Amino acid sequence: MELESLLNAKSGACPEDCAFCSQSARFETDADVYAFLDVDEVLDAARATRAAGATQFCIVVAVRGPEERLLRRVLEAVEVVRSETGLEVACSLGLIDQAQADRLAAAGVRRYNHNLETSRAVFSRICTTHTYDDRVETARRALGAGMELCCGGILGLGETLEQRVDFAFELAELGPCEVPINFLDPRPGTPLADEAVLSPREALQAIALFRLVLPSAWLRLAGGRELVLGELQSMGLLAGANALIVGNYLTTVGRSAAEDRALLDALGMPVADGPGEGRFMVDEAGAHARPARVGIPVRAD
Ligand code: SF4
Repeated sequence: MELESLLNAKSGACPEDCAFCSQSARFETDADVYAFLDVDEVLDAARATRAAGATQFCIVVAVRGPEERLLRRVLEAVEVVRSETGLEVACSLGLIDQAQADRLAAAGVRRYNHNLETSRAVFSRICTTHTYDDRVETARRALGAGMELCCGGILGLGETLEQRVDFAFELAELGPCEVPINFLDPRPGTPLADEAVLSPREALQAIALFRLVLPSAWLRLAGGRELVLGELQSMGLLAGANALIVGNYLTTVGRSAAEDRALLDALGMPVADGPGEGRFMVDEAGAHARPARVGIPVRAD
């Protein structure tokens, strides 16, 4: 299992209109609105991530794409976090051009997150301010710059089961190293506030589906997993997920990292000591997990 924490380093006031998102300036929501945090605040969050046993730290900002001043501040924060904590740093800064992708890669950003969010057929119902192909291009630029690609989305946006299957295959075409799976947690004030939440059974089916279509990706359960899976968190892991967001999400509160660690211990699932390269910890029974190439799920048993 690979554990990661997110930091919402610049919240709210986003000009885009993604219908699920409480950080859009177009909707009346209770999401926090603040400018990019001080480097010290980013570093404090990174240290807390380290203390929680996670190895990946993702700096997220709510923007269409980063303007120059913001990008420079992110690059500064990346350097400090890497040198002070040794964490692998990921970034999620919205749409980027190739030069921006190259600068992020040169600064040591290992992984770039940019979700397709949903299937091509559904996307234009969810967002009108940018296109599905805009997102695909950014994903390709991240890969072109040499960063690993983290690319997934949100299930439960009103897509049909067939469209969910299409979405998994559309992601697979990009070859992401990591696929975050969020489940819609309808946010008051957004256009999807009254959307029905997926049932646990639908969610488990979707996790298994994504595992089959994306056999070598880190499949990361993310926002909405507590709401949708409830007491069935362990089944989500047994259905095929091999990565978790620990702690809070961008705009919603998650479980404690300690609860997730206890669950992984109970399931006998070793926690990755770092992303990629098969660097895995010895599990509690003293068994060494097998080394594996990047992204291959490894189980002690
Ligand atoms: S999902 Fe991202 S781009 Fe869309 S409104 Fe939210 S913060 Fe902005």
